[in-house]
Amino acid sequence: MANLLKILLHTCCAPCATASTLRLLKDEFDVVLFFSNSNIHPEEEYQKRLVNAHKLADILQVPILEDEYDHDAWLNWISGLESEPERGRRCELCFHYSLKRTGEKARELSIPHFTTTLTISPYKLAPVIFRIGSQFPGFLNYDFKKKDGYKESIQLSREWDLYRQNYCGCEFSKRVPAADKVNQI
Ligand code: SF4
Repeated sequence: MANLLKILLHTCCAPCATASTLRLLKDEFDVVLFFSNSNIHPEEEYQKRLVNAHKLADILQVPILEDEYDHDAWLNWISGLESEPERGRRCELCFHYSLKRTGEKARELSIPHFTTTLTISPYKLAPVIFRIGSQFPGFLNYDFKKKDGYKESIQLSREWDLYRQNYCGCEFSKRVPAADKVNQI
């Protein structure tokens, strides 16, 4: 079997990792999921998303690693931006937090590339994520929402009975009006 290039995939949740992982496998990467989500609140919600990420890893037969969960450190990091709207400066810092940690983990494991499932969501702007990711060596620009990636992620999540949350992750994202919360991922 050919020596595949390894990639660490920052995994924000199982649904977003469905089509994203399949796309990377199709592009002949050897994919390792990295669940790094100190932004998620409360911890019960974090655990629920983690369990489902493991379920997906089992289905796709790919390894999964978990980062340390430290929501207090994350709150410190975004301090002063609690009232920002979604897609604002708090979210940019949030992306920075997770991408930096994923880049560091990739380096620690000698994995040459990394990217993130975050781009599959229509609620996240890929150019912003690419700008932030480009600060860290090894980051690859993958806009997973292209080629109907988001639609595929919804279909696969239903098929594989994966939990789909109705808010982005932090306590501040729960303020989104109910009508906008459907299909938040
Ligand atoms: S809304 Fe989502 S992306 Fe923005 S800060 Fe909260 S968890 Fe992070």
